[in-house]
Amino acid sequence: MPSLKTPFPIDLHSHSTASDGTLTPTELVRHAAAQGVKVLALTDHDDVDGLGEAHTAAEEVGIKLILGVEISVTWNGRTIHIVGLKINPEHAPLKDGLSAIRAGRHIRAEGMANSLSRAGIHGSLQGAYAYATHGIISRTHFARFLVEQGHAKDTRSVFKRYLVKGKPGYFSHQWATLQDAVQWITGSGGIAVLAHPGRHDLGRVNILKLLSEFREVGGSAVEVVTGSHTREQYIEFAKLAHQFGLLASVGSDYHGPGHNYMEMGHLPDLPATCTPVWQDWPEVVQLSEVAAIVKAA
Ligand code: AMP
Ligand code: MN
Ligand code: MN
Ligand code: MN
Repeated sequence: MPSLKTPFPIDLHSHSTASDGTLTPTELVRHAAAQGVKVLALTDHDDVDGLGEAHTAAEEVGIKLILGVEISVTWNGRTIHIVGLKINPEHAPLKDGLSAIRAGRHIRAEGMANSLSRAGIHGSLQGAYAYATHGIISRTHFARFLVEQGHAKDTRSVFKRYLVKGKPGYFSHQWATLQDAVQWITGSGGIAVLAHPGRHDLGRVNILKLLSEFREVGGSAVEVVTGSHTREQYIEFAKLAHQFGLLASVGSDYHGPGHNYMEMGHLPDLPATCTPVWQDWPEVVQLSEVAAIVKAA
């Protein structure tokens, strides 16, 4: 089995302009390569449109691109995210499922804009869409508009005052079910990963319930090291992954320069008790062997 610590950075969660990142797929891949990343997953929210361009760019700079997606799910009345890795973006149920979620995003955007209008902020629908020229419409695009209009100093502060439950711009929305999202991914030949479980403040009971349901419907890994977790949470979710027999994943959740996520290529190693999701991936095994030969020479 390859060692837990790969001799090169792996990043299995990132965003491009196909969702709410600020770099195009080509720029993102080049940035990853410049940071030393050798295996990169592009995981745009509910959209696989950036994967073709990212694949071409990855071949040019010599990094391995993992085809991915991050699916929005409503579970127990809350929004959670499921990352799919090594998906087949042409798999019809996955394609149709994502397309339905994107349609829902348009309706939700109208609801968000109406809510902002009621709070005296006008023109946000057009304003948000002006930032969403390459793919899905998301709260991030509304956040950029609100910053542009001087309602907050940066996107992080936007989410304290707007767009969240109980605040102007919030619009309740029903995403995919956990079972559907996992099955679209696994049905396409991919691996379902529970994204940043520590971000949602679910509480112990709900986390255990979620992990158990996730595994039951075919999920196989948990993000342990992510830009959304604290160091304590790396340990907490490493333990939980072990307890539930789930593999562990690593991803920056990079959205472009200036965002509040981790820089690519500088993620901490997985805690030693984890079994990495890439343990039997041929591209990782091959690269590890090459790195070992280079080191020995
Ligand atoms: P949506 O899927 O449209 O609800 O948008 C969710 C996206 O908003 C996430 O993927 C993040 O990129 C962004 N987001 C959510 N909360 C925050 C926050 N507190 N600060 C900055 N960005 C956030
Ligand atoms: Mn995002
Ligand atoms: Mn997410
Ligand atoms: Mn993400």
